Amino acid sequence: MPVVVDDGAPPPPSSRSPLRVAVIGAGPAGIYAADALTRQSDIPVAIDLIDRLPTPFGLVRHGIAPDHPKMRAIRDTLHRSLDHPLVRFVGNVEVGTDLSLAELRKHVDAVVYTYGAALDRRLGIEGEDLPGSLPATDVVAWYTGHPDADRATVEAALTGVRSAVVIGVGNVALDVGRILARTTEELEPTDMPQHVIDVLAAAPVQEVTVLGRRGPAQATFTTQELRELGGLAAATVLVDPADLELDADAEARAATDRNATRNLAVLRDWAHHAPEPGRTRLRLRFYSRPVRLLGTDRVTGVEVERTAVDGDGRAIGTGRFEVLPADLVVRSVGYLGTPLPGLPVDRRTGTVPHDGTGRVLRDGRTSAGEYVAGWIKRGPSGVVGTNKHDARETVAGLLADAGDGTLRAGGPVDDLVHTLQARGAEPVLLEDWRAIDAAEQALGATRGRARTTLHEREALMAAIRAATAR
Ligand code: NAP
Repeated sequence: MPVVVDDGAPPPPSSRSPLRVAVIGAGPAGIYAADALTRQSDIPVAIDLIDRLPTPFGLVRHGIAPDHPKMRAIRDTLHRSLDHPLVRFVGNVEVGTDLSLAELRKHVDAVVYTYGAALDRRLGIEGEDLPGSLPATDVVAWYTGHPDADRATVEAALTGVRSAVVIGVGNVALDVGRILARTTEELEPTDMPQHVIDVLAAAPVQEVTVLGRRGPAQATFTTQELRELGGLAAATVLVDPADLELDADAEARAATDRNATRNLAVLRDWAHHAPEPGRTRLRLRFYSRPVRLLGTDRVTGVEVERTAVDGDGRAIGTGRFEVLPADLVVRSVGYLGTPLPGLPVDRRTGTVPHDGTGRVLRDGRTSAGEYVAGWIKRGPSGVVGTNKHDARETVAGLLADAGDGTLRAGGPVDDLVHTLQARGAEPVLLEDWRAIDAAEQALGATRGRARTTLHEREALMAAIRAATAR
C-alpha cells in the first residue's frame, strides 16, 4: 500500500476540485487560451474569461475594420469557445480597478494574461500632439464603436478634413486610409455606429497619403490588404513610379521576401495611375520620414525628410526636406502593451517578460501560476490566427506545470462573480452578452444591416437590463 505523505500542499486538480484559471482579456488570444484548456481532459479545469469591456472578442470587435465583414465573422468561431460549459465569460470587470491582481489570485490557481496592447507608440517628433494629429488607436476605437473612444477629439479632428496623412505602412495604416477614402454607400452596410458613418460622410476628404519611412519592399502591410485599395468605389490609388525603382541589390533582397515581391507587383500595376476628377486620391508614398508636424492651433502639414534604404533595410536621411500639406494626421506606427497594476511590463517592448513559452518572469525568475499569451506576450504582430498557436504554446506550459505538480488546485474559494457583485461591480456574463448581441442585431435591422455596434457603456448595460426585465 503506497504511503501518502501529507506535505500540506493542495491536492492535484480533480473533477471535484478543478484547476481554476483566470484568463484576463477576452480577445482572440484569451479565447484561444480558454479553448486550448477545454480541449484536453488530463487536467480538470474551470475557466473565468475576464474582460474590462462588457463585450467579448477584443480586437475582432474593436480592431478589425468594420468594412471587413468576412474577417470580423471569425467571432462566430470564437463564440463557440465562449459557449463551452467550462468557460465563464466575466465582462465589465477591470483587474486593477474592480479588484486587484492579488485579490484575483486568491480566487484562482493560475492567471493567463492576454489583454493585448492598447497604447499607441509615439513618434517623438515636434507637433505630435497638435489638434488634428491622432493616434490610429483612437481612430480605430472610434470607428469600431469602442465605449472608451474619445469621440469629441476624433470628430473635431475629422471636421472639414480635405487632406489626410497616415504615417506608417502597416495594415492598420491601410485600414485607416481605406476607411477615410470609402464612400458613404460603402460604409452604410457595416456595423459602424451611425454617428461614425455620418461624420465620415460629412468629411470632404479628397486626398489621403499613406506614408512609409522606408521603401515599398520594407512595407509591413500584406498583399491582400494592399490589393483591396484598388477596388475602392471612388478612390484612385496613386504611386510615384520613382519610389518603385530599386537597384539590382535591393531588387534581389526584395525577391527573397514573398510579401515584398507580391506587394511590389501590385504597386507597379498602379504606377501608371493618374488622378481622376471627382475621385479621392489615395497616395502611397515611400522614403519619407516624418520629422515635424506643422501648425499652431491645428495641424497643417507634415515635414518629411526623403530617405534612402541601406543594405540592412534601414532608412538613411538624405538631407532633403519637403512639406506635405495635411489637415489631419493619423499616426499608425504600432501598438504598445500597457502595464497592469502588479504585473511587470518591459516598457521598451510593451510586453510582459516570459520564459520564451509564456511563463511569466518576475525579477528573472518564473512566477508560479502566471502565464502570458497574445500581443502582450510577443508584441503587436501577426493576424488573428497567430494567437491560436501562441495561446496553445502558453497553455501547454500551464498544463505541464499542473501535470508535474508545480501548479495545484487550491480547493474551494469564494466565487469570483459573487465577490465582485458584493463590492458593487456589475459583471456581465454570457447571457448578458447575448442580450447585447441581440440588441445590436435589432438596432442594425432598423436600417437593414446585420448589426449596429452599441458604442456607449450605458447603452450596453441598458440592453442587458431591458432583457432581464422582459
Ligand atoms: P506594423 O505592421 O508594425 O506597422 C507599423 C508601421 O509604422 C510600419 O510601417 C513602421 O515602419 C512604421 N513606423 C514605426 N515607427 C515609425 C516612425 N517613427 N516613423 C515612421 N513610421 C514608423 O503595425 P500595425 O499596422 O499597427 O499592425 C499591427 C499588427 O496587426 C500587424 O501584425 C498587422 O499585420 C496586424 N493587422 C492585420 C490586419 C489584417 O490582416 N487585415 C489589419 C490590421 C492589423 P518601419 O517598418 O520602418 O518600422
